[in-house]
Amino acid sequence: MSAFFQHARDRNVTAIDFNIAFTDAFLAEEIESPSPASGIPQITAESPGITWLVEPKRSTSVEHFSYTLVHKSRKKDLRSSTIYAFAHFVWGHSNQTMIFADLDGLVLFDPMTHTVAGNSGIGDFGLEGINSFLQDHSCGDVCNRIALDEVAPLIFDTSRNEEQEEQDNSPSPGDADSANGEGEDNVD
Ligand SMILES: [Zn+2]
Repeated sequence: MSAFFQHARDRNVTAIDFNIAFTDAFLAEEIESPSPASGIPQITAESPGITWLVEPKRSTSVEHFSYTLVHKSRKKDLRSSTIYAFAHFVWGHSNQTMIFADLDGLVLFDPMTHTVAGNSGIGDFGLEGINSFLQDHSCGDVCNRIALDEVAPLIFDTSRNEEQEEQDNSPSPGDADSANGEGEDNVD
């Protein structure tokens, strides 16, 4: 995120929303009586550990900017445009290896990533996820102001990633439809 803001400052662009941030999330582990929400009746030496990803309570309602496999840049206000540009920036900044998905809110919480290797965790659709971003994203005002189409072109240089592609038996693009909307509520 700081590299993104620095990129904007380097270009003397001030018309972006500098207030977006990743939340201070922390992990909490249950150690005695499991909570009903965990769905685990009893903690024993054999039972799986219960760990929660926790964020500070916020009064504002959560607004989704992108979903797991839906990255369309629909909104035009400065905040939305900044968040879309951040997602675009990450693509270039990661050397075309990573996409941020599931972006919501002023404070970005628990985003998922799509990576070339496809191993960043739950919700990583690998090349399928990356391609869905490259197809869906259309540059907004902030992207244009900081010239992201130049520094982070929305093309996938497959020759650079041939090795990973061969290892990755990614499903056909048509399969993406069935997964749409999956990320709407990944924080149970
Ligand atoms: Zn863009």
